[in-house]
Amino acid sequence: MQTDFAQIELALRESHHALRQARQETKDMVERYLLLTESAQDALWDWDAASGRIFVSDRLYDMLGYSKEEYDLCSADLLKLIHPDDKENGTDGSLFFESCEKENNRGNFCNESRLKMRSDEYKWFLVRGKTIYDDEGYVIRRAGSLTDITERKLYEEEIRQLAYFDSLTGLPNRTYVMHEMMSSVQRRLPNSQYRALFFIDIDNFKNINDHYNHTVGDNMLQEVARRLKLLSGPDTILARIGGDEFILFQSVGDSLAYVDGLAESIIQMFAEPFYYGDNQYYITVSTGVAVYPRDGDNMEVLMKHSEMAMYQAKNSGKNTYSFFNRQLVELMSERVEMDNHLRNAIRNHEFHLHYQPQFDVLTGAIKGFEALLRWNSPVYGSVSPARFIPVAEESGLIIELGQWVMDEVFAFAASISHLGLCVSCNISAIQLQQSYFVEEVTALFDHYELKRGSVALEITESCLLDSFELSSQKLASLQNHGLLIYLDDFGTGYSSLTYLKKLPINVVKIDKSFIDEIVENVTDRRIVQAIVSLAREIGLDVVVEGVETKPQYHYLSESQCQYVQGYLISRPVPEDEALALLDQNFDYLK
Ligand code: C2E
Ligand code: CA
Ligand code: CA
Repeated sequence: MQTDFAQIELALRESHHALRQARQETKDMVERYLLLTESAQDALWDWDAASGRIFVSDRLYDMLGYSKEEYDLCSADLLKLIHPDDKENGTDGSLFFESCEKENNRGNFCNESRLKMRSDEYKWFLVRGKTIYDDEGYVIRRAGSLTDITERKLYEEEIRQLAYFDSLTGLPNRTYVMHEMMSSVQRRLPNSQYRALFFIDIDNFKNINDHYNHTVGDNMLQEVARRLKLLSGPDTILARIGGDEFILFQSVGDSLAYVDGLAESIIQMFAEPFYYGDNQYYITVSTGVAVYPRDGDNMEVLMKHSEMAMYQAKNSGKNTYSFFNRQLVELMSERVEMDNHLRNAIRNHEFHLHYQPQFDVLTGAIKGFEALLRWNSPVYGSVSPARFIPVAEESGLIIELGQWVMDEVFAFAASISHLGLCVSCNISAIQLQQSYFVEEVTALFDHYELKRGSVALEITESCLLDSFELSSQKLASLQNHGLLIYLDDFGTGYSSLTYLKKLPINVVKIDKSFIDEIVENVTDRRIVQAIVSLAREIGLDVVVEGVETKPQYHYLSESQCQYVQGYLISRPVPEDEALALLDQNFDYLK
């Protein structure tokens, strides 16, 4: 009994000792915990499932700027501070509860949420936590930490700005469009709603940059952005996706009627001049339009198709808009294919030249020839230059082809130099733009020992649009060297008559389109009359193109047009036939 009692007492003492030790340990632990929570950079949080009690460490008060008296963070009120966008589907808040769905198999989870500070600003937090379950798998507790990541978020936003936005205009860039808009097309709209993607490219922008300084170019791009913004509605996306390329992506409702008007307004926006310093500049844009979902159901395809349409607009003379259509895809692939064949065509001797006479109405004799390129392709048969020249221009092959043409033409001119005629040769704008163009042409001229006035270059107004001063200088040098300069297709471009005075040219060729109805159309007659009078006044010769009928010929000869060219005199023919024409009698014209 005695021993029993002693044993019990011993056991009691031991357990009391163990209890005291445990209590001490608990106390130590609590102290350590307090110390930890107070000193931690992060705030700690704890949520008890049974009571719903929320605890956060004092650190969160510091972080958010509240005092304990004014706001109880250790309550459900904490959830009211969560940013609405960070709450999931109208529930209380993602902060502690909802994100647990995304926890890993050890019960760990994390998310990023904003909490409102006393100053009404929001701070970003990385919320980390762990869920503790009972044996039956019910949640007992969740606890974790809150790390202030506001600075990192700002930094991330800055990087996003740099990656996604264009610093010059402040507009979103191509990366933004491709990454952020890709799926938004499908996500946001029912299929009955149309959206139009306008692909806008500034015409001849390269030359503005080359010719003026870059500040002018930059300023212009900012102004373009500003003007396009005026067209933007609340759900429009306006972006600068390349040097001088912009897109405007806009809902147009359930009908396409509105799209034409919008495309028209884009073009019209640029009719007003741009001002920089004391100077005034005019620019035009070409726009391609693709419509969602008709022309593509994702951003990538829509971009590609609107760009194709934009090229179509460029090809039809710039300063206009064009809609995407399925034929464009075929046309593009046809062009690529044609380009491949063109590359071998020079080497395979598939090109030759035809010559069309230019006839002097006063003397009744041929005064010269225009060389016109012909392609006899084993694949396509005989192809019109109107079809293959644009392809060669686009790929740059025109340079080599143009050199071949000039060599042939100058050689022909040299072979008939004793006849005192002038042979003219068509020059593409791209050729004239080459920096070595003048040297090359004058060297060839000297090589064939050509006489002054025995060859001419036919240029179009598009050659001059790009960089008026530079091209004028080049033309003047060529003229000084003994070549004549003809301005081709006059009247179809942009230039006014007074513009003629400023140009180093010898001959104006009036376009066929004014001649077609010259007999019956008063306006056409007036235009031709005006050009002829002005040309005479400033000492230029006039060649009228596309004369097909006798009545046209008679009208023109009565109107003091000295030179005519057209099927009525002769079609373009091979070299030997052209020479035979020199002996032909043209009495039938009278
Ligand atoms: P273009 O320089 O305006 O040439 C006149 C075009 O009108 C030629 O077409 C000619 O055959 C055609 N033509 C002449 N008289 C008449 C007529 O009475 N009635 C009709 N209906 N047509 C007439 P072609 O030979 O098909 O050349 C088309 C265009 O291709 C030329 O227009 C020129 O811009 C370009 N081209 C031709 N050869 C060359 C070349 O060697 N280099 C470059 N860069 N372009 C060229
Ligand atoms: Ca011509
Ligand atoms: Ca012409």
